[in-house]
Amino acid sequence: MEAEDAHGAQQAAELPPGRRMRRIKLSDQVAEELRRWIARDNLGPKDRLPPEKVLMQHFGCSKGTIREALKALEVEGLLVMQSGANGGPEIQATTTETVIQQMRQYFHFQQLDFEDVYELRKKLEVMLAENVVGKLTEDHFRRLQANIDTCIQAMRDDDREAGRVVEVQFHDILAEACDNPILDLMCRFLNVMVRDLVLRRTDSLREHSAFGQQNIDAHIELIEALRREDRDAVSAAMGRHMHCAECSMKELDATFHLDLLSRQ
Ligand SMILES: [Zn+2]
Repeated sequence: MEAEDAHGAQQAAELPPGRRMRRIKLSDQVAEELRRWIARDNLGPKDRLPPEKVLMQHFGCSKGTIREALKALEVEGLLVMQSGANGGPEIQATTTETVIQQMRQYFHFQQLDFEDVYELRKKLEVMLAENVVGKLTEDHFRRLQANIDTCIQAMRDDDREAGRVVEVQFHDILAEACDNPILDLMCRFLNVMVRDLVLRRTDSLREHSAFGQQNIDAHIELIEALRREDRDAVSAAMGRHMHCAECSMKELDATFHLDLLSRQ
């Protein structure tokens, strides 16, 4: 008996530290099952999930639980609820806008500086420019040229807001031709940060004009190198452009908005 007690006590001592078991909410379990279902059956955008009633029967859950699960997936951007007679939960690919909004939300609670953005931009924009060499269509070139014309007009009108939006659009057009989805997303995200979130505290006309002219010259040089499909020249031109852009940001005393949560 004594040996048994000792043995029992020894076994109890070897148990791992106590852990409170978590009760997973029913709607979260249903949402997870639906995610697995979508992945397992290889369902894609525009495919439909069964209507609420069928899901209620399948999972043995109330309408409220199914709706909560579907709402969670809708908020995640995985589903969209179509209304009407043939309505119901429809699968959608998460959009770039949704992901970028979530990334902005994440960075709202970080100490983010525009120098952090340029540290990446200086490398990623060069990678992107190299990636798109030989992939741009005539339509891309036409839009890039039109973009430069709009940029020149914005500068003549001293319309800084328009100039800033158009400057970034040039880089978004380049990103369209990128065949690396991660690089594409990262560059678009950084473009949004530069376009929407940087405050330029210096209001000197001379410095703003110099920055605008510098961007236009850099874009013209880039288009010419891209036309020639000269990878080294493209890479060097984008490297210089990003370096100059960062220097100008310093001169314009750029800083970030404190609110990265609000949508534009
Ligand atoms: Zn640019």
